Amino acid sequence: MKTAIIKQHGAPNEPGVIMFEERPTPIPNANQVLVRVRACGLNHLDTWVRRGVPGHTFPLPMIPGSDIAGTVEKVGSAVTKFKPGERVIVNPSLSCGHCMQCDSNRHQLCPQWGLLGETSDGGCCEYIAVEQRQLYHLAPSISFEQAACIPVAFVTAWQMLVKKAAIQPGQTILIHGAGSGVSVASIQIAKMFGLQVYVTSSSEEKLSRAKSLGAHRFINTSKESFRDAVRNLTGKQGVDVVVDHVGEPTFSDSVRSLKRGGVLVSCGATAGSRIEIDWKMIFFKNLALMGSTYGSNGDFWEVLQAFERGKLSAVVETTVKLTDLPKAHEQIESRGVFGKIVVVFPA
Ligand SMILES: [Zn+2]
Repeated sequence: MKTAIIKQHGAPNEPGVIMFEERPTPIPNANQVLVRVRACGLNHLDTWVRRGVPGHTFPLPMIPGSDIAGTVEKVGSAVTKFKPGERVIVNPSLSCGHCMQCDSNRHQLCPQWGLLGETSDGGCCEYIAVEQRQLYHLAPSISFEQAACIPVAFVTAWQMLVKKAAIQPGQTILIHGAGSGVSVASIQIAKMFGLQVYVTSSSEEKLSRAKSLGAHRFINTSKESFRDAVRNLTGKQGVDVVVDHVGEPTFSDSVRSLKRGGVLVSCGATAGSRIEIDWKMIFFKNLALMGSTYGSNGDFWEVLQAFERGKLSAVVETTVKLTDLPKAHEQIESRGVFGKIVVVFPA
């Protein structure tokens, strides 16, 4: 089968970094299903796996790609829920399935937790063998391209907003970086739950696209400070919730933009993670700062159902061929993308 493999850390087009190789098609074991990949969505995570993170070891060489949709090609002898030809989506979360955390629907806290495309081979290839319990039937109303935008962005955003911040109708929420996959998902989930949604971006075009998703207030950070804008928009009160996956440049003002009792949730720090904080603000204002990584299998179900009911939908910026992967990584890193880039495979 055709694969894209990250052989070593480096720039997208550097020789020997992203390589295209033939590999044997995996043979599913008794409990596994062989999925023919039709679409694999890309995330910022893919660029971290390729670039490398200081102090962290990725198991290279590795096939990247966490968000996978396709059809069942072959099933193992103990597989009962799936038949060849069926349309499916893969939950990329790897957990043991029988520890206290897994049994408590906190799979992301399992000691053995991992993610396809981050801790083991992902979906930037023609076929992948996954455990039956990682697989879900895909409703006819959801295209492969749409499905390939669901797991990382929407499950992460769902866990942050619905489970951690426990969002409520009528609350205000500030979402940074309007164009990112997690932000697009957060805007829609916040809208779905009846919040007033404030978004930031340095691009007028991204703000206007956020408007089409249902955001209510738009802060162009190339023209004004978001902290001042939030103060003005909320009558000095601040917002109930901030979603900040930017990190260093925004964190301090994000905390200052919260009202008393507010919650900051974060699933990343794309612009740096060394943060200084005046702790007085946290206890005086009764703030909560919450970190988050992906979500539980229950979150996956809830997000998938919201897609089936048409409550959520993905924004696909563009589809590309597998061999365009280096260019797609460049596009993600240039932050010129609104929504997702999806690698598609011919039928
Ligand atoms: Zn477990």
